[in-house]
Amino acid sequence: MEIKKVLFVTSECVPFAKTGGLADVSSALPKALKKEGVDIRIVMPRYYIVDKEKYKLKALEGELVVPMGKLGNLYAQVFEGMLPNSDVKVYFIEYEDFFGRKGLYDDNNIAYKDNDIRFIFLSKASIELSKKIDFIPDIFHCNDWQSSALNIILNTKYALDSTFSHTASVLSIHNINYQGKFDKSALDYLECDYKHFNMYELEDFGGVNLLKGGIKFCDAITTVSPTYAKEIQTPEFGCGLDQHIKGLNYKLFGILNGVDYDEWNPKTDNLIKQKYSVSSINKKSINKEDLQKIFDLPQKNVPMFGFIGRLVEQKGIELIASIFEEFIQEDIQFIMLGTGEKWAEDFFRNMENKYPDKFKCYIGYNNEMAHKIEAGVDIFLMPSLFEPCGLNQMYSCIYGTLPLVRGTGGLEDSIINFDEKDANGFKFYEASPMALINTIKWAISSYYSNRFKKVQKNAMKKDFSWKKSAKLYKDVYMYAKLPKLVRR
Ligand code: ADP
Repeated sequence: MEIKKVLFVTSECVPFAKTGGLADVSSALPKALKKEGVDIRIVMPRYYIVDKEKYKLKALEGELVVPMGKLGNLYAQVFEGMLPNSDVKVYFIEYEDFFGRKGLYDDNNIAYKDNDIRFIFLSKASIELSKKIDFIPDIFHCNDWQSSALNIILNTKYALDSTFSHTASVLSIHNINYQGKFDKSALDYLECDYKHFNMYELEDFGGVNLLKGGIKFCDAITTVSPTYAKEIQTPEFGCGLDQHIKGLNYKLFGILNGVDYDEWNPKTDNLIKQKYSVSSINKKSINKEDLQKIFDLPQKNVPMFGFIGRLVEQKGIELIASIFEEFIQEDIQFIMLGTGEKWAEDFFRNMENKYPDKFKCYIGYNNEMAHKIEAGVDIFLMPSLFEPCGLNQMYSCIYGTLPLVRGTGGLEDSIINFDEKDANGFKFYEASPMALINTIKWAISSYYSNRFKKVQKNAMKKDFSWKKSAKLYKDVYMYAKLPKLVRR
């Protein structure tokens, strides 16, 4: 059996629209699968921020008719473009009322009230699009709750549509914390029989849970690291879906994300002051000096720490806050880049005012700065409470910046502790301030040892490319296409 055609349905994709790691995966994985010979195309919304002229989007002829149950037929416009530096086609679904808004899912952290309708619409539009352009895929590859509805609809509303008799669906969970929980009225747009509104399928405490339904109806579930695949089957990490997944784990696979080396590579990175490689790792220090200039920090050779990410509980920022005063007494420098919870932004801003010679905090989203930080700092803090895969620890390795992580999810799968064979970072397990500060102190003292450079080189040499993972996805696609009875 060969997998020829895949329609990859996503709610975000770089460079068009991004709120998190899903956007990186949505561009890098299709590119890697294309190189493996799969005709993969992407579908996503044409949000207000997606600039049609900049990306040279062309309108497809005619309108796309999308049946939306209670709302009747809706008429969307479709635009076609290309993923930059690739031959992957991207289709953008334009429907002003749903996607012509400032945010992707929310405005100032307040979720749009009609998110169920908006993303059920994306799912239905993707199915209808495949017919319109005569691209009937072997696999619909769906991502997170935003395209979970597709798995449900394909097996309910479209179950008897012979067009899709050879089409399977795969659902990738990038973060189980976000599930798409809505009022029961979502059923009016899904148009699936009420009999599916039960605790084993769509129902969740009286409402509709789109991710739960997607997990039930898809032919294979993937998640973004082998450890996270195990973790989501436990009450600690499953966010209420652990039992549901455990019951369906025969079709669950954990595949570690890769890194897009076109974007993240110190040899070719135009966003950093000085390019370098394993053999010229000494030049990395020029990027550190550049950061010290940018952030007005003293030009001295002390361990420099970095943090990039959403300032939310998941990322372990409470742990960082709780050890901050002790940490900052050390002879170090620390640069943080992120946005998120207000208390955290206020806390770290205050710390910057208190310790201006040691700590700088850039509140905002800035990709160029993220590259400069990865290239310039020595140690990257990532003490996440949970981390489905995480990308920054891999970017750090590639830039010879040692990640200091908590051993959970993808962090556990990608980082080997400093004192072990093939080490590429520092790792601790207990989610406690004590464990974090002790590991930080270990990293500070190691910075002055010869082993530090050896481990930096190890980290840079490790292969985080998508090639290996893309092959595993192909295997999952093949599995998903097997007859149901064989898969169980
Ligand atoms: P998550 O998806 O949970 O946010 P990941 O580590 O998987 O975390 O991916 C986060 C991505 O977003 C990385 O590419 C990271 O560099 C980027 N990122 C997060 N916050 C910022 C920021 N404030 N400025 C620039 N890039 C950021």
